[in-house]
Amino acid sequence: MRTQKNERSFKDAVKVMPGGVNSPVRAFKAVGAAPIFIDKAKDAYLYDVDGNRYIDYCMSWGPMILGHANKAVLDEVKKTMAKGTSYGVPTTIETDLAKVITGAIESVQKVRFVSSGTEAVMTAIRLARAATGKDKIIKFVGGYHGHVDHMLVSAGSGALTLGMPSSPGVPKDFTKHTLLARYNDLDSVKNIFKKYSGKIAAVIIEPVAGNMGVIPAKKDFLKGLRVLCTKNKSILIFDEVITGFRLGFGSIQKKVGVKADLTCLGKIIGGGFPIGAVGGRASIMNNLSPQGPVYQAGTLSGNPVCVAAGLATLKILKVQKPYTALERRTKHLCAQITQTLNKAGVEHTINQVGSMFTLFFTAGPVTDYDSALKSDTKKFAKYFKHMLNAGIYLPPSQFEANFLSTKHTDAHIKRTIEVLKKIKL
Ligand SMILES: *Cc1c(COP(=O)(O)O)cnc(C)c1O
Repeated sequence: MRTQKNERSFKDAVKVMPGGVNSPVRAFKAVGAAPIFIDKAKDAYLYDVDGNRYIDYCMSWGPMILGHANKAVLDEVKKTMAKGTSYGVPTTIETDLAKVITGAIESVQKVRFVSSGTEAVMTAIRLARAATGKDKIIKFVGGYHGHVDHMLVSAGSGALTLGMPSSPGVPKDFTKHTLLARYNDLDSVKNIFKKYSGKIAAVIIEPVAGNMGVIPAKKDFLKGLRVLCTKNKSILIFDEVITGFRLGFGSIQKKVGVKADLTCLGKIIGGGFPIGAVGGRASIMNNLSPQGPVYQAGTLSGNPVCVAAGLATLKILKVQKPYTALERRTKHLCAQITQTLNKAGVEHTINQVGSMFTLFFTAGPVTDYDSALKSDTKKFAKYFKHMLNAGIYLPPSQFEANFLSTKHTDAHIKRTIEVLKKIKL
């Protein structure tokens, strides 16, 4: 189905860009295929340069909750763009977006806008260290918080040791303050707090993991983290770059009954444009320059086009309240996938939270990085290619989240299941 233009585009791209892509997982390496090149997108569909159409379950890795090329968002962007695209001077719409976010997330009284989720995390950690006067950060094995040096750490076997960098180019000295705990394992966190008593600046967690495949944190686990952080005067950072405005209007914090000290946002709040934000209590946020001494800056931070797209997206989400319908549709899709795979005798587990889900090829349960790694990635690669060739685009790695948008309909689900039924694993 993929034809000449895609192949030519990839050959051209690898000559001038490492791997032919600007973000690694786009290269399809995990599934042993060549990437498709996209010409345009609309609603739930991607169209490649050869004119093939795909039902998209990646949705740009999460931001496009209203579907691609939403008309109301585009209209707002065009209107804003016509007035200039960057001033380097404040605008009132930055305040508007900040008001929407602080109004939607109780624990966020003030925000700082940046240009990516990575920057939001960088800033949150700098703030946490400054506010506590401590250096060490606890993160979870398999948790992704952008590509900042000291977060690029995974323990391999999951040993609870000093973090070793998981990328060349990251000095060991840069990650020596990063400590690894196990997701959904409160004892692993308690042990670190005991061992490094008085030294932990923050615990950072995705409250629903999206970057080892979808894995929800247990409520008691999150509540336990809250208690530990409060007791030890450490900052609890929720990395909600994916979950913010994805699982409800605002944060997951209300649903799980846990208030984070700092919240990282991105993806949906930019409506498909580059943005990130860190927010929290005023007493912590006021440490940021120019109000406080913690330096952080960005030439294009709070860019009017990005802010306008985010504002338009959040306005629609607030009025439409699509979350119940999104969840119902996602549950329906997952139930159909399970039914189909059960009939075919394929061992699997589906983790689903709201409009995000991951299909793992293991009997499960999948509750942390180690259990996610039990998934048969060869089967995943076969599944991915089968779906792609039939016009269904999935995130090209086992350890990613699939997303539905408000433009995914029962007809798309029906088509997806028809395709899945023909699979031979
Ligand atoms: C995507 C993501 C990031 C990084 O955001 P970028 O905009 O890609 O820098 C950070 N944390 C989580 C949980 C993410 O999913």
